[in-house]
Amino acid sequence: GGTGFKEVHEEEKSRLVGNVFSSVASSYDLMNDIMSVGLHRLWKDKLVSKLNPFPGMKHLDVAGGTGQHNILVSKLNPFPGMKHLDVAGGTGDVAFRILETLNSVKRRATQDVLEDNLHKETQIFVCDINPNMLNVGKKRAMERGLGEDKSLIWVEGDAEALKFKDNSLDGYTIAFGIRNVTHIEKVLAEAYRVLKRGGRFLCLELSHVEVPVFKELYDCYSFFVIPTVGELVAGDRNSYQYLVESIRCFPSQETFASMIAAAGFQKVEYENLVGGVVAIHSGLKF
Ligand code: SAM
Repeated sequence: GGTGFKEVHEEEKSRLVGNVFSSVASSYDLMNDIMSVGLHRLWKDKLVSKLNPFPGMKHLDVAGGTGQHNILVSKLNPFPGMKHLDVAGGTGDVAFRILETLNSVKRRATQDVLEDNLHKETQIFVCDINPNMLNVGKKRAMERGLGEDKSLIWVEGDAEALKFKDNSLDGYTIAFGIRNVTHIEKVLAEAYRVLKRGGRFLCLELSHVEVPVFKELYDCYSFFVIPTVGELVAGDRNSYQYLVESIRCFPSQETFASMIAAAGFQKVEYENLVGGVVAIHSGLKF
């Protein structure tokens, strides 16, 4: 095929994203804390608290449950024996939370609830296209005492072409990752393909603020503060300039929800956090 503008643009995007994450891998976690004033930790907790329900667990007081939502339907925690895929998993933040929640479920649960599931092997896959990010994640896993945990599996791979079988996973998360991919539709189609029926798709992403005044303040923060801090702390203004651009180009909450539905997901909904600075989108495969 001819090399149209679109293809060139796409190659450029993949290359840029590759460079960004190779160059920021070592400062990535520190930058996350600075840029979000630590809020990304709470956002990730919230994401994990929305994972797939497990009927046997519904009466348990599970650590980290939010309590304020419809607990039976959608807001329960991960379960032992689950197969979960965290895509664009980077340095492991989401996967660590899932594993740590699981470990606390195991400690609290009564034996009868768990006997069917404990023997099944839990597998939390962290998939990322960038080996530098995964390497930082592996080191962090050691530091957190998860280095020997066989449930944690690091895989280098592309969200647009996953190396997982159809209908093979209970849950799928992608945090601050889908904004960087070249074809969002391909990523959603792959998420749908690999999930089992009943499996949940969850996406945490920087989104759009529409609240007046707050929007203007947030724009100032994005345009002036983020690139400057990027330069001062990570020594890399361009990567953080790219970050700001990519947020602007990402579809609105409603548009993104309709893309998730178009991929086949049911019960698509989203929740804005901090006025839409980030949004959590959710869908189920029936
Ligand atoms: N999920 C982690 C977190 O929340 O801290 C990391 C998010 S980081 C902003 C985005 C990650 O997406 C990077 O690690 C990058 O390598 C990865 N990425 C970009 N394009 C990808 C693709 N096509 N497939 C898989 N991972 C990709």
